[in-house]
Amino acid sequence: MKIVAATNNKHKLDEIKAIMENMNIEILSLSDINLNIEIEETGLTFIENALIKAREVSKYTDGIVIADDTGLEVKALYGRPGVNSARYSGYMGDEKDSKNREKLLAEMKNVPEEDRAARFCTVIAAVLPDGTEITAEGFVYGGIGFEETGSNGFGYDSLFIVDGFEKTMAELSPEVKNKISHRANALKEFEKKFQELLSNNVINI
Ligand code: IMP
Repeated sequence: MKIVAATNNKHKLDEIKAIMENMNIEILSLSDINLNIEIEETGLTFIENALIKAREVSKYTDGIVIADDTGLEVKALYGRPGVNSARYSGYMGDEKDSKNREKLLAEMKNVPEEDRAARFCTVIAAVLPDGTEITAEGFVYGGIGFEETGSNGFGYDSLFIVDGFEKTMAELSPEVKNKISHRANALKEFEKKFQELLSNNVINI
């Protein structure tokens, strides 16, 4: 089965491809379907933004579309940067991720170790050819480090110490990240809901 992923983020795409390969689903990118669009994320929640992206791309294809919206929620910052994780520092372009990490470290500078809890959240939204929509959520829990550690992954990974591993997400191999991550958990939940609809003949692909 082939599914279009509504993202231009190469890191996300690679992770979605790797995770869904294990589910026997082939992922097509926007460039695979010759679609070159930027979608504005105007929603107030991860679910809204994931649906905005999936609905927009489904206008251009007859196939199944999935979109991922992800953010980092930090307890000491009352859930920020949350849905604004990509725009946290205000920088866009190549420097965006490093500026976001710099701002997070600065905001967390005086927060003691025991108060640095955080989680990543991913929402996967899917739009099926018959218009059916599916949303699925996944989390991974951990804490914010005092400095960047590790060189794998992307975004906030080098600042996020994963519960149970005591390493940052950027120190884990891609294989391990793709088993335990927020994105993996959301995609597993999506696959479960999707298979249930298929096996109960609620949808016909
Ligand atoms: P968006 O879902 O593309 O809006 O991403 C939100 C922000 O979270 C961006 O700054 C990404 O770099 C970051 N991000 C998304 N996924 C991950 C991840 O798996 N690890 C670390 N940061 C991520």
